[in-house]
Amino acid sequence: MRFHRLTTILRTFTTSLGHRSTPIITKTASRYPSSSPSRITPLKAIPGLSFLGSFFSSTAQSQNQDNMTYPDQRSDQEWRAVLSPEQFRILRQKGTERPGTGEYDSHYPAQGVYNCAGCDAPLYKATHKFKSGCGWPAYFDALPGAVKRFTDSSFGMERTEIVCNNCGGHLGHVFKGEGFPTPTDERHCVNSVSLRFQEGESKAKA
Ligand SMILES: [Zn+2]
Repeated sequence: MRFHRLTTILRTFTTSLGHRSTPIITKTASRYPSSSPSRITPLKAIPGLSFLGSFFSSTAQSQNQDNMTYPDQRSDQEWRAVLSPEQFRILRQKGTERPGTGEYDSHYPAQGVYNCAGCDAPLYKATHKFKSGCGWPAYFDALPGAVKRFTDSSFGMERTEIVCNNCGGHLGHVFKGEGFPTPTDERHCVNSVSLRFQEGESKAKA
């Protein structure tokens, strides 16, 4: 089992890297030396981010999934069968949608739940959502136990990645201490592509 998982990780890793075999973290860090959190938004805003996205995905994936098991253990092949190419790029390869383009960026229903677009697990309530102006859907909290956090050291800076706790699908990042007038001191910055809105709250646990 462990060998199988390792093989899967290695296959993913090498697929993401193509033929490169040099340490990707070092290359990425040296190319983008800034370590200031304030650089995060401008970096995401760069058009044509695909090559950055592939670097980002491989480093984050190798760090985060070594010892992780999720209830939903579908393989990449199985995910490709049910996700759109864009959903697969973001959820399974830790990509990022372009700011201001997401379906739920300016979506503020009075009630309802945002589920994982991969496995349909409920993640955020409509009442968790707030206007951050950052270009991605922003939530000040998640449903209890719905989201898992990892340290993401890609691009030479330290951020906190958030994934669906049921399938490991990449959601985005969480930032603290920005001064938004919300009940918490956090902003869950989530890709719309990673979410599917459902009216009503019947699936929410809390
Ligand atoms: Zn999920």
